[in-house]
Amino acid sequence: MNGQVFLARDDLQRLIDVLRREHRQVIGPQVRDGTIVFDTLERAAQLPHGALDEQAPGRYRLISNGTRRCFAWANGPQALKPLTFAPREALWRAERGDRGEMRFTDAQPTVQPIAVIGVRACDLAALHLQDQHFCYGAYADAYYNKRRRALFIVAVDCARPAATCFCVSTGDGPAASAGFDVALTELDEGFLLRAKSDRGLELLDALPTEPATEEQLARAAAEHDAAVAAQTRALPGRNLKEALFARLHHERWKEVAERCLSCGNCSSVCPTCFCHSEGDAPSLDGRQVEHYRQWDSCFTPGHSYIHGWTVRAATHFRYRQWLTHKLGSWHDQYGRSGCVGCGRCIAWCPVGIDITAEARAIVEGEPDARP
Ligand code: SF4
Ligand code: SF4
Repeated sequence: MNGQVFLARDDLQRLIDVLRREHRQVIGPQVRDGTIVFDTLERAAQLPHGALDEQAPGRYRLISNGTRRCFAWANGPQALKPLTFAPREALWRAERGDRGEMRFTDAQPTVQPIAVIGVRACDLAALHLQDQHFCYGAYADAYYNKRRRALFIVAVDCARPAATCFCVSTGDGPAASAGFDVALTELDEGFLLRAKSDRGLELLDALPTEPATEEQLARAAAEHDAAVAAQTRALPGRNLKEALFARLHHERWKEVAERCLSCGNCSSVCPTCFCHSEGDAPSLDGRQVEHYRQWDSCFTPGHSYIHGWTVRAATHFRYRQWLTHKLGSWHDQYGRSGCVGCGRCIAWCPVGIDITAEARAIVEGEPDARP
C-alpha cells in the first residue's frame, strides 16, 4: 500500500483530461440500457455515480444508492475483450482485376491509442490470459497485438463484489495487483492512486495529488477485507483438471444439458473465451471479397463441424467441452485455469446455470469406472 497518493473526487475530471490530452480516446464505464458498458468518456459526470449491481444466476439489475461513488458496482456484461479481440473484423481483402488476376490486401486495423478507466482485477487477469493466447509464439496475432499495445489501463479495486463474483477463489481479485498503468481505490472523498508503469507515474505527476494519509490507507484496507469476506461463491478447491477428466461420463453433464439452451451467452460475456470462426463476404458483383473473423462459441453446433459431421452434436458434449477446457485443459495450454472468477457467465446465462455449482456437483461425484 506504500507509494499511494490521494486525488480529490472533484479532480477526477483532471485525470480524464490528462489522458485525453495525449490524443487518446478515453473509455470508461457508463449506464446504458440498464447495465454498465464501456464507452467513450469525456466527462467524469458520465460515470455511473451511485450505481450498484444486483447479480444472481440469470439476473442483473442496477439500483442506485444515491452516493457519489462511481465504481461501487462490480461488473457489467463487457470486459476488455471487445477492445482487443474485435467481435468481428476483416483479416484480408481480395479483388479480381480486369484480366482475372487476384490482388490481396492485408486489412490490419488503424488503431487510436485508448485509455480505459475502471478495469477490475478479474478483467486484468483475463487480459493477461488473452495476451498469452494472442501475443506470443509462432502465430502471434497482429490484429490483437496492435490494439493491445495501444491500451493504457486505469484499474479500480473492487470494494463491493456482486453475489456472482468468486475472484478470491481463483486468486485474481478483488484488488488489482498487476497488468495496469495506474490503479484507483475509491473512498468517499476521492481516490487513492498507485502507479505500476512509467506511463502511470507520468500520469500521477500530472495530477494535483497529495500523499495518502495513514487513516485513508486503513479505510482502504478495511474495504478490501470486507470485499474479500463478501464473496460466498467459490470453485471447488482441488485439482479440477484431474477431477473433471476423471468424470467425463458423470450424469451431471446430461442434467445440465437439459437446462442449457446452447445459446453461447456464457462464452460471449466470458473475458477469457477466444473461439472464433472465419468466413468470406463477397461483393454483389463478385469482384471483391472480404475475409473476416468473428466471435464464435463452442456451444454452437457449427463450431465443431468438420468434414461432414458435427463432433459435438449434443448439448451435453458442448457444455462438457466448455467446462473441461475452461477449468481443465487450459492448464496445459496456459499454465492456469481459464476462469478468473468474474461471475458473468452466471448472471448472463438466461437459465441461471452456475459454473461453480456445476463444477462442484461433478467433481464431488464418483469418478468414472475404469474399463
Ligand atoms: S468462466 Fe464465467 S466466471 Fe469464469 S471467467 Fe468466464 S465468465 Fe467469468
Ligand atoms: S450455460 Fe447458459 S449461457 Fe451458456 S450456453 Fe447454456 S444456457 Fe446459454
